[in-house]
Amino acid sequence: MSGASARLRFAPSPNGRLHLGHAYSALLNARIASDLGGLCLLRIEDIDPARSRAEFTHGIVSDLAWLGLSYRQPVRQQSQHMSEYRAARDQLAAADFAYPCFCSRSEIRARSCACDPDGAPLYPGTCRSLDPRETEARRERGEPHTWRLDMARALPQAQASDELGFFAFERGDERWCPVDPAPWGDAVIARRDVPTSYHLAVVHDDALEGITHVVRGADLEAATALHVVLQRLLGLPTPRYHHHGLIEDEEGRKLAKSRGSPSLAFLREAGTTPCEIRARLGF
Ligand code: GLU
Repeated sequence: MSGASARLRFAPSPNGRLHLGHAYSALLNARIASDLGGLCLLRIEDIDPARSRAEFTHGIVSDLAWLGLSYRQPVRQQSQHMSEYRAARDQLAAADFAYPCFCSRSEIRARSCACDPDGAPLYPGTCRSLDPRETEARRERGEPHTWRLDMARALPQAQASDELGFFAFERGDERWCPVDPAPWGDAVIARRDVPTSYHLAVVHDDALEGITHVVRGADLEAATALHVVLQRLLGLPTPRYHHHGLIEDEEGRKLAKSRGSPSLAFLREAGTTPCEIRARLGF
């Protein structure tokens, strides 16, 4: 596609400091945007009120600036746009593609016989067939609930016009990747505490911000199947995707704050320069 209108985004979640894996993704986004003559936006994906912290958002901005990356202002912060995600959720619910689910995690764990692509217990569908009057009464009583995609209803609609899939791009080449979202089952599109999940917010924002090329880690590749379904149901375009390899630690494991992977802030404190980080990551 013509590079003139190419738009990418780097979309970290502020629940910790950035590590080398984030730096790689941010640098790769910037390089591809520049190769395409386009623009890379920064988006703060802070829908999780329990894990997102303002100090981590500040840390992200300062680590990226230290690496030499600057972004157009204002930077979109998902927590400021909940009403938009609520409207998308309501659109799916009004078309009967989503239903309220009152099950607790332990109930789901007890009844589930398989796992979704993220390794979470696959939802057994308990609330899908609740009597609508019961659902209404429970909602009126204020019973906490998530909203789940009704995959069996959604799929025929999502694939009515075209095979489900996306164009994967790599170094100027594109190839069609068919996807099968069925292994996700009735995925959560809106959590109990906020009117969205990562999946719904990310497809909404990618469309709203006119993102043409999504460059993100291979750990999110499986989720793209679900994103394509949501895009089709909401009438949103599907961007091109590139899922890059993950930076690993010495033991070959994905970097993660929980495993004590050194943050960029730590490396910076220890005297590592942005040039050294770039060189280490192949930029
Ligand atoms: N916010 C997500 C993360 O930090 C990335 C989302 C995306 O690139 O689609 O893992």
